[in-house]
Amino acid sequence: MTEGKRMNPEIEELMKIISKAQEAIAAIRTACQHVEYKVAQTSWAPGHHAIIRLCLSCGGVSEGITDEEIRVFLEIQKKEITADISTFNNWEGKD
Ligand SMILES: [Zn+2]
Repeated sequence: MTEGKRMNPEIEELMKIISKAQEAIAAIRTACQHVEYKVAQTSWAPGHHAIIRLCLSCGGVSEGITDEEIRVFLEIQKKEITADISTFNNWEGKD
């Protein structure tokens, strides 16, 4: 950044709005009871994945995922991938 140059004031204002929105979302998620959730995979950094309970109400992470939930999730993923590979192989053979 060039010395003496300030960021575009409109950008600064929008960044403040984003920051406020993030705080409001965090407050809602903290207060949420996460009653209904689905098991989903999330990426928290490139190449880093986690299987989580994703709250259907607030989109936050609900703690306490069980080994059984992870096992069932991975089993479904495996079936879907196997079905995709099968579809691909069948399609490839007919072209
Ligand atoms: Zn929630």
